[in-house]
Amino acid sequence: MFKRFFLVALCISGTLSAQNYFFEKFQPFDSKIPSPEQFLGYAIGEHHTRHDLIVAYLTKLAEVSDRASIYEYGRTHEGRKLVMLTITTPENLKNLDNIKQQHLAFSDPAQSVSNYNDVPIFINLAYNVHGNEPSSSEAALLTAYTFAASNSPEILKYLKNSVIFLDPTINPDGRDRHTQWANMYQGNPLVADPQDAEHNEYWPRGRTNHYWFDLNRDWLLGIHPESRGKLTWYHQWYPNVVTDFHEMGSQSSYFFEPMKVNASQDPIMPKENYEDLNNLFGEYFASALDSIGSFYFTKEVFDGTYPGYGSSYPDLQGGLGLLFEQASSRGHKQTTKFGEITFPFTIRNQYTSSITTVRAAVENKAMLRKYQQKFFKSALSNASKSRVRGYTFKDDYDKNRVKAFIDKLLLHKIEVYESGNAFVVPTDQPQYRMVQTMFETYDTYRDSVYYDASAWSVANFYNMKYKPVTNLNTGTKITATTDLVKTDAVQKTDYAYIIDYDDYNATAALNYLQQNGIVVSSSFKPFTTTTNKGLTTFNYGTLVIPISLQKKDSDTVFELAQKAQQKFQVTIHSVSSGYSSKGIDLGSRYVSPLTKPKAMMLIGDGVRSYEAGEVWHLLDTRVHMPITKIPMRNFNRANMDKYNTLVMVSGNYNLSKAQLDKIKDWIGKGNTLITIGNASKWAIDKKLVKEKLTEGPKKDSTAVAVRKPYVDAPENLGKESVGGAIFKVDLDLTHPLAFGYRDTQIPVYKNNSVWLAPSKNEYATVAKYAKDPHIDGFITKKNMEGFLKPSASLLVSKVGRGRVVLFADNPNFRGSWYGTNRLFLNALFLGDKIDVPD
Ligand SMILES: [Zn+2]
Repeated sequence: MFKRFFLVALCISGTLSAQNYFFEKFQPFDSKIPSPEQFLGYAIGEHHTRHDLIVAYLTKLAEVSDRASIYEYGRTHEGRKLVMLTITTPENLKNLDNIKQQHLAFSDPAQSVSNYNDVPIFINLAYNVHGNEPSSSEAALLTAYTFAASNSPEILKYLKNSVIFLDPTINPDGRDRHTQWANMYQGNPLVADPQDAEHNEYWPRGRTNHYWFDLNRDWLLGIHPESRGKLTWYHQWYPNVVTDFHEMGSQSSYFFEPMKVNASQDPIMPKENYEDLNNLFGEYFASALDSIGSFYFTKEVFDGTYPGYGSSYPDLQGGLGLLFEQASSRGHKQTTKFGEITFPFTIRNQYTSSITTVRAAVENKAMLRKYQQKFFKSALSNASKSRVRGYTFKDDYDKNRVKAFIDKLLLHKIEVYESGNAFVVPTDQPQYRMVQTMFETYDTYRDSVYYDASAWSVANFYNMKYKPVTNLNTGTKITATTDLVKTDAVQKTDYAYIIDYDDYNATAALNYLQQNGIVVSSSFKPFTTTTNKGLTTFNYGTLVIPISLQKKDSDTVFELAQKAQQKFQVTIHSVSSGYSSKGIDLGSRYVSPLTKPKAMMLIGDGVRSYEAGEVWHLLDTRVHMPITKIPMRNFNRANMDKYNTLVMVSGNYNLSKAQLDKIKDWIGKGNTLITIGNASKWAIDKKLVKEKLTEGPKKDSTAVAVRKPYVDAPENLGKESVGGAIFKVDLDLTHPLAFGYRDTQIPVYKNNSVWLAPSKNEYATVAKYAKDPHIDGFITKKNMEGFLKPSASLLVSKVGRGRVVLFADNPNFRGSWYGTNRLFLNALFLGDKIDVPD
């Protein structure tokens, strides 16, 4: 008996000493509520905590504490739970519906309430968007425990005056990838040597989500379940303050806002946000970190220009987004030039910033509320000052692309109306700043060096032909996209089905039919014929399913056509004759059966995981087509003859001569290599193709260098890189790679310095930058005149009986470039049909 008591006592005292490092000053704690250490069986910082254990602990807190409740706002691609723990006083929690209504009155410009001090402030403490920046989720556990269990007068005061929404892990799939890595290589004793495996994760590392996307760019684009769940939650609660905890390289200290002074702030952001509020909060963080002896820096780097960060999106919703960056211990302990960084040390800084965020928010409650109210009221007053009353857009040929764009507008609570056969987005609405974000473009900037993109007009991502209007006819409000695309039921025929190829989903329908053994042909010239819907003109690339070519009977073909239509909402016509009133007939040699793509992609060390992930995500989620991912380390023994298409995205491909020959021989047999970004440059450098790079302006070798201040070097050199901008290209609509397009002028996204010279072959330059190419974003005059204007964006180059399709720009950027995805998909599905005439 005595023995057992003794052991328990030892345990508790051990617990307290380990935990006191973090939160001694918030004693006493409710002993009925388990600390993270009691729950997990190890002290925070001893190991990396798996996401399922994080969820289990927060679920436990919600169970045993009357201050907390838990809510699941989504599931990741790998099926992990996305949760939000709500923490406040038991009274507030019981009264939350009422408090929420009072809170939302401040973000509704139609209301004019003034009880700024009476309503608890809404704080969203959000952690770990980058999976391999792990200190923050551990800090989340300590923070949750502190607010659920501490009875210190300070914490009780914060609880009374706030509702805290704690999201412990924004990116659980990435976190667990890194957690597994750090724990499996953890030594005992710990190995602080930076060269140890523990500190050097293998490709693709844990930063990104399942499809290797950076979720800290997806707040605007809303492609992934993690962000979609979060955005849906966000627009129900509109928190006043939102945190975004990160880690940076190990050779550093700690960063909090304000960001880079004079950086390229989003031009539509109220100045008060980044000048007043950030400085006010900054003083709180400085004194809190001073008190625990931690060093930090502010103002030098990072910008909040791109509106899709976790720390910038809240700024566009009347809140204050806060970025924190902790020097990473990446592993449990690591030696740096500033000394040793331990995992508990990094956790303590993030924990301190978490509690301090709540303190600063509570102490400035009235001011933050007034700010949010003014933000939404000024949305309406700003809109009323603009001559633009709204934006209209439509696309008569590609309804599913329009649908995908409207889905993004609705996700951000932007009001959209259907008027006649067009759509209308009025500027006079509380989300006016998001309307601006989606449609407005810029060509002048306060700064020229960007942490990320300098262009984000999402309408251009979707190749929406939109125009600003000064007169408005709103029509019917759209509340959901479910019924936006209406297609008539396909009618049975014994002759042929015809699928319009202009629709974004046509490729998915084509893939579905091919996977089910249906022979599908593509029409290389337009034609006009009578279908079950009457006289119809079909564009380049129209799909034709001749019944006589099929191995399956006409009933089965009909069933599959019906399924393809229902699954992908594409228009399928039936014809009973092959005779066309205009253009080619269906038996023409210009109607050619397509080969089913058998695709592989090189991945692994040296390959840019974002771009590889974009290809994988596109094929998985939109086309439902498998692609084999071949790790570079296995390339030597990979049998390439099983495939007809190879995708190489940007990367550093250090291939041997034998490996290069292997690829070249395989292409020569009639196969297709698709290269993206600097893989296109690589193919040229390695003489895989006989193409050239644009040489750029001639350098004067006799000129004497102008002496410049040393300190300006990073800025001066930085602006020459193309951080991410949108340019117009001119497409050859008759080329198979451009099938499905109706307009010769489309936007492309450029974030590299790959400048392809137009081909010497007259028929091989599929897309060239247009005469007046600038649409949106920053580019220097030197890059514009010397490199961009003379260059091509998309080429095809012949190699033996095969070909290389070279993309200078990334057609699949961040899963959201619906406007250029088709070019890439055409390279996959029509690649082997491309003949480059000599
Ligand atoms: Zn990060």
